[in-house]
Amino acid sequence: MYSLETLSAIDFELSSHCNSKCPQCPRYDTQGYVQKDLNITHLDFFNIKSLPLSKMPNLKEVSFCGNFGDPLMNPHLDQIIDFFAKQNITISTNASLRDEQWWINLAKKNNVEVTFCIDGIGDTHELYRRNTSYNKIIKNAKAFINSGGKAIWQYIIFRHNEHQIKEANRLSAELGFKKIKFMYSDRFDTDNTWKVYDNGKYQYKIEKASNQVTLREHLGEVEGKKYWNKLYQGKGKISCVWRDKKRLYIHSDGGVYPCCMLANITVGNQLEKILLKKIVHDFEKINIKNHSLEQILLSEAFLKNIPKSFRNDPFQHPICIEYCNQTNGLYKMSDIQKVNQIDIQ
Ligand code: SF4
Ligand code: SF4
Repeated sequence: MYSLETLSAIDFELSSHCNSKCPQCPRYDTQGYVQKDLNITHLDFFNIKSLPLSKMPNLKEVSFCGNFGDPLMNPHLDQIIDFFAKQNITISTNASLRDEQWWINLAKKNNVEVTFCIDGIGDTHELYRRNTSYNKIIKNAKAFINSGGKAIWQYIIFRHNEHQIKEANRLSAELGFKKIKFMYSDRFDTDNTWKVYDNGKYQYKIEKASNQVTLREHLGEVEGKKYWNKLYQGKGKISCVWRDKKRLYIHSDGGVYPCCMLANITVGNQLEKILLKKIVHDFEKINIKNHSLEQILLSEAFLKNIPKSFRNDPFQHPICIEYCNQTNGLYKMSDIQKVNQIDIQ
């Protein structure tokens, strides 16, 4: 059951604008065009201000991350940060945005921690974070850290940047990051390589890391095929990880979702999007532009349809099976995705 009273964390997508062109980002189709049905917008500060924080005594954490854009693109970011003065704020960004002075000012806000997404050193970083500038990011990170800001370095390991892991580990300590977090991309769901296109033009290929075991490989599905059959054969009960953590997601267009993974499939013409509509029925009824968060949590979608769907009534959403089934879902299987510590030292 969702309630304002018990809510402990909200993830906000503050913007669906982005300066970067990361090849596996759902913002783009496989040909590197921005998805046609993406609503390119900023989450309105007016709607955020309307959230009844006084009725949410357990809201300890807000996170600015997002599926389709970078939070630093939102022009009201500073006011939004100030609005959440009593919460711990985590911001995840490509960090190739804003000037050093802005970063110095941000460092003064004690409740803010920033995750810098830096996938390699020098030009290597820009093979995935296309259109960003490594030098600008490092300048921003130095300005922030040297002014007292709390910074985490997030490094997605691919084949093309795995030779720099040790060097990145060393550099992160030297620059003063609190820690460096290595992870793998979960977007190699059918193939171990990914062709990078820019507006229809082929650029190059990227490849999963040598030591990465993808969910497809773990389930024994052949390359080139999505693992649905294998997943369904071995699936267990669904335990909603976000609901258990009393966590919610608010999309840049104002839509409220039970997690970021379900919000992630609202763009593009896939079957998953159609199935979500069958569960939610009317997306307008779960949008903070039209209704208060309290009303949304009491809506048919949140009160009945979504929880019922976890119990297979009338069906389980494939994304819920993929992430939260207790036998072979991605959360359960996160161990197979763990980065080998030996690689790092
Ligand atoms: S920085 Fe984030 S939102 Fe922007 S293209 Fe990359 S993954 Fe997508
Ligand atoms: S995928 Fe489904 S079950 Fe998992 S956190 Fe999201 S809503 Fe809950």
